[in-house]
Amino acid sequence: MSNDDSCPSFHPETLAIRGGRETSEYREHSQSLHLTSSFTFESAAQAAAMFLGEIEGYTYSRFTNPTVSAFQQRLAMMEGAERAIATASGMAAIQATMLTLLKSGDHIVSSQSLFGSTINLFNGVLAKFGVEVSYVDAAKLEEWQAAVKPNTKLFFLETPSNPLTDLADIAAVADIAHAAGALLVVDNCFCSPALQQPLQLGADLVVHSATKYLDGHGRVMGGAVVGSDKLVEQVYLHVRTAGPTLAPFNAWVLLSGLETLHLRMEKHVASAQALAEWLQQQPAVSRVFFPGLPSHPQYELACRQQKGGGAVVSFEVEGGREAAWRVVDAVQMISRTANVGDVKSTITHPASTTHARITPEARAKAGITEGLLRVAVGLEHIEDIKADLLRGL
Ligand SMILES: *Cc1c(COP(=O)(O)O)cnc(C)c1O
Repeated sequence: MSNDDSCPSFHPETLAIRGGRETSEYREHSQSLHLTSSFTFESAAQAAAMFLGEIEGYTYSRFTNPTVSAFQQRLAMMEGAERAIATASGMAAIQATMLTLLKSGDHIVSSQSLFGSTINLFNGVLAKFGVEVSYVDAAKLEEWQAAVKPNTKLFFLETPSNPLTDLADIAAVADIAHAAGALLVVDNCFCSPALQQPLQLGADLVVHSATKYLDGHGRVMGGAVVGSDKLVEQVYLHVRTAGPTLAPFNAWVLLSGLETLHLRMEKHVASAQALAEWLQQQPAVSRVFFPGLPSHPQYELACRQQKGGGAVVSFEVEGGREAAWRVVDAVQMISRTANVGDVKSTITHPASTTHARITPEARAKAGITEGLLRVAVGLEHIEDIKADLLRGL
């Protein structure tokens, strides 16, 4: 599978292993790691032509690097996209996208339930440069429509939402965005391309925190922006100038992460499904939030839009913060950390961690109660995960 062959006939599982693979003159079987900041030229004329972009080639690793471009090509194939540009982190991907596509005076419409740093980026950084944001309930299509203004340039959403797993109908929101002359950007971090391909549903760009399921082992930071050649070229020009570039070593780690993505997601989803069903039976649990349960209000949309319910299960225990903290403190195996997307299961109490800095009123409005817990289900044996949670239930 050569570098410039997009291999449309291969299944996603195969693309995740063989897509974008590059080998050097030594024909090594594993992905080679090119740890170099710059590349040499055969002549002054070649250097000049490469710097002008007249001929393709590697000049400097802030622009491109063979290991990073292998990661970019593989991820683009997996999202069914023309192109991807890798970044140093998920936040770098979101920032690069926003700084590329927006200017002072523009307006964006965003789902209100977002990763905390994304909210800080929108309200703190973008606001400073005169970009205005309206937040909507992602599940309510009429709110997306009503928020449109003459200067709306971009829609942004995460689906499923964290921690309550509300879904946005990507195809329907894309239609509203396009009718308004705006682009739709989807943060696909929670599902990964193994479960959901937003570009196939009409989104214009996908952003990733590769730190999560793409790596899958909690080893490195990384991010990516994926989409059409035309849009990604613009983001690329920003990244090569501004410098939030992915390190070659991290790209090399992420390439091996991608190789097992489908296998891992299959197991994450199966265990999350089993855990959600089991939690529903526990007397101490009053509610379970998981898109794979028929009791989820958007179960039908989940079946249509995602391959499986995802790997994050949230649930409410009777007895508020005290009861919830008891569960967090009782676990002996599951990691007490707010991260997701790891082979190791994690547990967090959103009201006092990830969502602690928003006002109690905003928390209540978002449905994040004191009894709510979030588990990102890892790849340990499901019976060990259940037994560990049972200690505090
Ligand atoms: C973690 C995360 C990010 C940010 O990614 P980093 O790699 O930590 O910068 C963005 N969106 C979602 C949904 C995330 O979970």
